[in-house]
Amino acid sequence: MLLTDLLSTVQSYISRCACDLSLGKNEIEILKSPQRELQVSLPVRMDNGRTTMFQGFRVQYNSALGPTKGGIRFHLDQSLESVRALAALMTWKCALHDLPLGGAKGGVICNPKDMSTDETERLSRGFIRAIHYFVGPGKDVLAPDVNTNPQIMGWMMDEYSRLVGKNAFGIVTGKPIILGGSAGRLQATSLGGWYTIREAARSVGLELKNASVAIQGYGNVGYNAARLATSFDCRVLAVSDSKGGIISQKGLIAEDLNRKKQINGSLKGFPETTSISNQELLELNVDILIPAALEGVITSENAESIRARIVAEMANGPISQEADDILFSNGIHVIPDILCNGGGVIVSYFEMVQNLILQQWSEREVISLLNRKILSSYADVQNLSNASKVDMRQAAYMLSTKRLLAAIKMKGWV
Ligand code: GLU
Repeated sequence: MLLTDLLSTVQSYISRCACDLSLGKNEIEILKSPQRELQVSLPVRMDNGRTTMFQGFRVQYNSALGPTKGGIRFHLDQSLESVRALAALMTWKCALHDLPLGGAKGGVICNPKDMSTDETERLSRGFIRAIHYFVGPGKDVLAPDVNTNPQIMGWMMDEYSRLVGKNAFGIVTGKPIILGGSAGRLQATSLGGWYTIREAARSVGLELKNASVAIQGYGNVGYNAARLATSFDCRVLAVSDSKGGIISQKGLIAEDLNRKKQINGSLKGFPETTSISNQELLELNVDILIPAALEGVITSENAESIRARIVAEMANGPISQEADDILFSNGIHVIPDILCNGGGVIVSYFEMVQNLILQQWSEREVISLLNRKILSSYADVQNLSNASKVDMRQAAYMLSTKRLLAAIKMKGWV
């Protein structure tokens, strides 16, 4: 899918839902318009002494429900349009989970895999210097996303704190625990995703014991999804990263794969596995397929070949709108991204609360709160989907749009 396609996909969900909710022209217009966008050029000194210019973005899509919230992505395939689409998804995600937060997203066009640790640190700090007046606690709060991690969040918080002359835990979530991060944040997206899979399995009558799983993407979310599969009695048969995938009918051990990936930089060639392509992985005959990498991997070109019973969108926007319709008519249960991967921002919200009251909650407390929150969102979506005879995504958009519009109206914006 082209980068701009994600934006039209998200806008088509908004239009569809606007039609179901009989929204007026002004309401639709406000939902389709991003509030604020910033594009910056960043000079970064590289290890060879030369300076390279990087392009960065931050989009605050809508702040009706509260301070905007969303991750920062370091990746080559980005544009203002793709960041805008991801910021819109964050807006609907926060509304769906009933968080007092708006939606935002940011990114820097770069390939962190080709950069040293020092270069990554200078880029992270440079990005904060360029956007610091635009973001802030109670205003717009950053977080990790593709290719960014707690260490990067720590640098960003430190740089922001220096700029404002005081400690500012609240500028970013997903921080290292020693710097005010929350227990459970690292695995939150994947764990929340698994809670929704358990509910989906119940509703389609799939026995989770020994259910087979394929996972596309082996970053933080994909790795933790694979690691947690055993706690849900499932077997991971196939995984992939950007360089390709591997399959083993005997099942794969997430931690062993991760160790190999840390050393060799890829999953390829893992003993007693067969290589497969990313495309083949998506089309495997498994019970549960978890796209956990980038947007637009299931399109009208391969949707007919998807054979999983449940597709759990742990990535943002992995399925195009045409593909979504095909999967629905083929009876495949799709757990939409804004529901499935909401665990990340839910625990980010818990981190914000802990920072505000200067507390550190135990992992057990955080996980139990996450479980309660995401299950209640799942039940709301499932009930509306049954009552209105629409798919889970449409039900999720209807619920979140209603909340967002209620806030917009109470603020007197329309
Ligand atoms: N990047 C994550 C997402 O897309 C988390 C955002 C956050 O925690 O603010 O949901």
